[in-house]
Amino acid sequence: MPSSETRQRIERRLDELQEHSAREEPGSVDRYYSSWRGYYPPEEAGSERDLFAICVATVDGQVFEAGDSTVGFPLHSLSKVFAYGLALADHGREGVLEHVGVEPSGDAFNSLRFDERNMRPFNPMVNAGALATTALVRGSDAEGQLARILATMRTCAGHDGLEADLATYEAEVAGADRNRGTAYLMRSLGMLHGDVEEILGLYLRQCSVSVTCRDLAVMAGTLAHGGVNPLTVRAALPRKHVRDVLSIMHTCGMYDYAGHWAFDIGLPAKSGVSGGIMMVIPGKMGVAVYSPGLDVYGNSVRGVQVCSEISDRLGLHIFASEDEDAILTPAEPVA
Ligand code: GLN
Repeated sequence: MPSSETRQRIERRLDELQEHSAREEPGSVDRYYSSWRGYYPPEEAGSERDLFAICVATVDGQVFEAGDSTVGFPLHSLSKVFAYGLALADHGREGVLEHVGVEPSGDAFNSLRFDERNMRPFNPMVNAGALATTALVRGSDAEGQLARILATMRTCAGHDGLEADLATYEAEVAGADRNRGTAYLMRSLGMLHGDVEEILGLYLRQCSVSVTCRDLAVMAGTLAHGGVNPLTVRAALPRKHVRDVLSIMHTCGMYDYAGHWAFDIGLPAKSGVSGGIMMVIPGKMGVAVYSPGLDVYGNSVRGVQVCSEISDRLGLHIFASEDEDAILTPAEPVA
């Protein structure tokens, strides 16, 4: 537990990071996404342009917040992490591997390409793979499956109020042609079984779960803490499967930018098209950033900048040498 002096210092540094990043105009914003409007260009953005939050949750249960940390946004692709973790808990590693691979695809998240050698989606972080893992979650019906996905997310966030936002869900359903096409194509190829509309609806509901940046940081903190929420000390996911989840986040979490991210930032992370990114520093902390301006890959521009800065300044890249690690050896002021 840090002293109040350390706490204040971290809070100050986080505020500084948020303020200085907010001042820099994110030059490479390519588009925004909302369930209602789909993708739209930066010149059509309103006040969402300025939304920006950074939160950190440490494994000893401290939470630090800067900026718009209480604004809600839908998880979208961030939800894939929790459905995958639950599918692993339900079926084990081999059971899930029969249905979805662990190879980065190099394609956009909504690609219609599959791993044809193994006749399965490339990985659980592309939409095709997420449809497969979501379908694997146990439950007597779609409601039961959703209840279990929600329960996992709530335990990770330590927040019983997490819900699928109905308006977001309805807008997602109305714009789901590509996901619907993906799901039917998968069923025709034997990669998905059962009621496609039900699986699609379940997937879109998990995408519509609304969180704040603070929630997301605690969810990342839970993954950093081996699947145990560091605030409530409740287990959300089995430790051995958190390892699998983090491996996939490391190789496939940032869409078709995942290789560059692993090279540059070197930490498991996942983004969502609503502008959230969660990054996990195993054994240390979870970081979440929310800023809705997206780059060409669909990652939050400011989110990538902030995560890069945190990883660099604290020497957190998993292949960094120990003397670069400012948490282990805080010779330099952190952040
Ligand atoms: N709901 C979106 C979809 O399924 C989520 C995609 C994303 O966040 N990249 O297409």
